[in-house]
Amino acid sequence: MHTVLDHPLVSHRMSLMRDRETPPKLFRELVGEITTFLAYEALRDVKTKTVDIATPVAQTKGLLVDERVVIVPILRAGIGMLDAMLHILPYAKVGVLGMQRNEKTAEPVPYYAKVPPATGEELAIVIDPMLATGGSACDAVTQLLKLGYRRIKFLNIVSAPEGIAKFEKEHPDIPVFTAAKDERLNSRFYIVPGLGDAGDRIFATL
Ligand code: URA
Repeated sequence: MHTVLDHPLVSHRMSLMRDRETPPKLFRELVGEITTFLAYEALRDVKTKTVDIATPVAQTKGLLVDERVVIVPILRAGIGMLDAMLHILPYAKVGVLGMQRNEKTAEPVPYYAKVPPATGEELAIVIDPMLATGGSACDAVTQLLKLGYRRIKFLNIVSAPEGIAKFEKEHPDIPVFTAAKDERLNSRFYIVPGLGDAGDRIFATL
């Protein structure tokens, strides 16, 4: 259930993002561009409806996206991926989950949740750039399931093997789309080689 984007246009952007000299403005733009690629891949099976169209030349049929989508950024770094998602899915709703990492244990500590009511029919897309230990991502999906969401996907930019293993164990049915699968976590739970603290790089709080 874990799809790693394998494309030179993604690798190019990943290399620029990893570079510690890349300034926040460019970093944010790259987060947005990679998010677009992730969404492109993750939404291949999005629901559509057939419509009649009159082109200037002839009558034809076409497809329109016909899916109720709720985008769920995990605060704070997930906000960096939100603009790109809303650009592609302008009618999506947004639910927000606040989760702070306990720096000693790396366990997620939920502190905020504002998510639209679920019918079970809508597609929830959780976004967070880094899948490190997997704690926040697993907890976010567990919260959404408890709220009645039944169709969930998770989009992230860099995954550590440890995070992938935990996520696959806890939520084997939830598809994950990532731009890069890295080597490991270090003793401070940072992804190696990674790109540092995604939130700090997005919000220039280094
Ligand atoms: N969160 C980050 O922002 N970076 C990491 O390397 C791990 C978790």
